[in-house]
Amino acid sequence: MKQSKLFGKTLREAPKDEVSANAILLSRAGFIHKLMAGVYSYLPLGFRVLDKIKNIVREEMNALGGQEILMPALTPKELWQETGRWEKLKEIMFQFAGAGDQAVGLAATHEEVLVNIVRRYLSSYRDLPLYLYQIQDKFRNEPRAKSGLLRGREFSMKDLYSFHENQADLDNFYQQAIGAYQKVFERCGLISIVTEASGGAFTTEYSHEFQVATPYGEDEIMVCSGCGFAQNREICAFNDGAKCPSCAKAKLAQTKSIEVGNIFKLGTIYSKPMQLTFTGADGKEKEVIMGCYGLGPSRVMGSVAEVHHDKDGLIWPKEITPFHAHLLLLDNKQAGAADKLYRELTFASAKGGSASGRGWEILFDERVESSGAKLKDADLIGISLQLIIGAKSAGAVEYRFRDKSENGKVNFSEVDQLLKKFYR
Ligand code: ATP
Ligand code: MG
Repeated sequence: MKQSKLFGKTLREAPKDEVSANAILLSRAGFIHKLMAGVYSYLPLGFRVLDKIKNIVREEMNALGGQEILMPALTPKELWQETGRWEKLKEIMFQFAGAGDQAVGLAATHEEVLVNIVRRYLSSYRDLPLYLYQIQDKFRNEPRAKSGLLRGREFSMKDLYSFHENQADLDNFYQQAIGAYQKVFERCGLISIVTEASGGAFTTEYSHEFQVATPYGEDEIMVCSGCGFAQNREICAFNDGAKCPSCAKAKLAQTKSIEVGNIFKLGTIYSKPMQLTFTGADGKEKEVIMGCYGLGPSRVMGSVAEVHHDKDGLIWPKEITPFHAHLLLLDNKQAGAADKLYRELTFASAKGGSASGRGWEILFDERVESSGAKLKDADLIGISLQLIIGAKSAGAVEYRFRDKSENGKVNFSEVDQLLKKFYR
């Protein structure tokens, strides 16, 4: 992509109405555009990052055996009344009049919608276990939406639901889901702490949260430095500095954090009122045992921006960088050579995978701008690897990783190798 054609411009000033680091940086770097509190558009750079996060989630959910579906966001009141949640969720759910005298709501979660589908198709124990998920925008009328992508009123959520014959099968899958979640966050460049928590308004009293420690988080957790035990402060009976109740050796430390994922053992709390049953091997009719697993791709994007930045701008982890490399032309005499390199690196062979088909994602800054402005923009945007063609580097390309881990010089012909070494 040539930067002169890229939609979205970097801004010198932070938007006046933003207070959180993620919203300020992502807006200034041209990733997102705010429509109103808690509601954002994703511009090309932001869309690429969000899409990569969603694809990582997809890969890990598919590896768990999940099948992807897509459910509607617009839902009828009658469905929610089956579980009593039309009333229970009325503070957080956007509820309004539909056509005629029908009341409708924008889904804040999807247990009812999915159980309604599954009860049509599921009949015997042979249909179990079953894992279905979607990646979709959720709507919640959050009272405070001041934290940019961390707390949206419309936001992206991946929600997976599991259906089991018995508790043991759920317990086993739940452990696998914990592993898959940790993998997702690790690939996105986040260290997640598996934290015991309450069920909250949406489900039972039983859940695990995945928390990212950062001083700007809205949650507070107690973490043991010794054994890894962690509990949300809301349910923790111990104070900062107390002896860990799990290992009885190290001390608990209180830290602020962001909840990026939350998983629950639902049991039969939805299958019972909605009569989701199956015929067991013994011929008896039983209620299905369920689990649900939420993860917010847009909150993950905001969390990465919170955790990975410096005074100059964003620093994208390599698996979710909007482009593999930012190629900066700082010496107009080498415009021809830079253009040739850009075309070689981005060219994807029709056969795919051949030596000539590189297919790298390159943002090529060929704009008529000062070198200083180009370097500043590159640091603000934060693509993992910068490739610089400047007057001093005649015949070679200077490279530097945005996280400052490494820099150096390579010949034009070695750039592909450098990219391969880093990304593959
Ligand atoms: P919170 O306590 O932060 O309000 P929650 O516990 O209500 O969140 P869940 O219902 O567990 O959230 O949602 C699953 C996941 O969806 C969360 O772990 C988070 O990643 C994401 N998420 C929830 N609410 C929001 C929001 N308002 N904006 C962005 N992401 C969200
Ligand atoms: Mg939660």
